[in-house]
Amino acid sequence: MPTTAAPRPVVHDAESADRVVTVTFDDGTRARFHPVWLREHCGCAACRHPQTLERTLDPLTVPLDLGARVRVERARLVCEFSDGHTSAFDGAWLAAHAVDLGYDGLGLPPRRPWSSGATDPPRHRWGAVVDDDGALTAWLTDLWTHGATLVEDIPDDPDAGVRLARRVSPLRPTNFGETWDVVALDDPNNVAFTPIELDTHNDLPYFEYAPGVQFLHCLRFDARGGESVLVDGLAAAHTLRDTDAEAWELLTSVPVAYRFVDGADDLRWTTPVIVLDHAGEVHEIRHHLALAAPPALPVERLDAFYRAWRTFAALLRQPDRRWHHRLRPGEMIAWMNRRVLHGRRAFDSGGERRLRGCYVDVDEVLSRLRVLTRTV
Ligand SMILES: [Zn+2]
Repeated sequence: MPTTAAPRPVVHDAESADRVVTVTFDDGTRARFHPVWLREHCGCAACRHPQTLERTLDPLTVPLDLGARVRVERARLVCEFSDGHTSAFDGAWLAAHAVDLGYDGLGLPPRRPWSSGATDPPRHRWGAVVDDDGALTAWLTDLWTHGATLVEDIPDDPDAGVRLARRVSPLRPTNFGETWDVVALDDPNNVAFTPIELDTHNDLPYFEYAPGVQFLHCLRFDARGGESVLVDGLAAAHTLRDTDAEAWELLTSVPVAYRFVDGADDLRWTTPVIVLDHAGEVHEIRHHLALAAPPALPVERLDAFYRAWRTFAALLRQPDRRWHHRLRPGEMIAWMNRRVLHGRRAFDSGGERRLRGCYVDVDEVLSRLRVLTRTV
């Protein structure tokens, strides 16, 4: 994603025919727009509140058979609409919102799936990300596109990792509080708080709105074992889609049940393991074998369902998909919890292994990234 200003597209030519307004930009690219779409998004003070930028025009008053006469004036598209209103559109705004040029309503760079376990996630320095907006932009971009990052050179302060999370967003509290320490406890309410191996999983799948980003900052680590593991669920889901159509169909449509229960909470959610967006692309992964409740499925569906889930779980355990790393004090991993799965190898509880964790929600992270990179 470019962080320096690219040349702003300028309207070079425009024509209107058969209810399509075609704009040619000065670099020769063309994009088509619908008259009602343009009229609805007039940016003048009569149609859009100049401070809130919310639309004040009632779009239902725009006739569906609206026509437009067009011309280019001072490098802008000017439309004289058949309802009597005249609007002007900046070339940069048109280019940024042209479906023909890739506008999808979300304005995010493409995610890059990975499966080569030997490759480190992108590394970033804590001090730079905390102090500098350019470094923050680069880190957030990697977090979104790669799904995981390693932050290093963190000061010896138990709250320093949390401070970086708060630079983006308020923390997302959960049933574990705002922050928590991953250590071996005498009375754990979660297997994370034991020294045993953790199969790779997405955290908190029993929430309807699972946290978007997780942070784990290594404070102390002198125990043997305990390497962290990350796996890209997006890449594994793509492999499942390309190799096992029946398993893909089941895991993207059949809901599984998740539950967290202790003395204070009974949290439950049902969801497909692979959640698709409206375009059929992978939106998120909800895989956590340790928190799966009994499937709420008729017995006649269970043979196929169990086969499908085991196929996906086996993909996630393929050694070449897994990035292993022994965190050092002063390092933190941050990853997209609803895409990348995490786990750890068992450790020797004779030593100390203390990680401080927190979450933030996904909307705040993506909003911050858009604000830092927006051009219109
Ligand atoms: Zn207007």
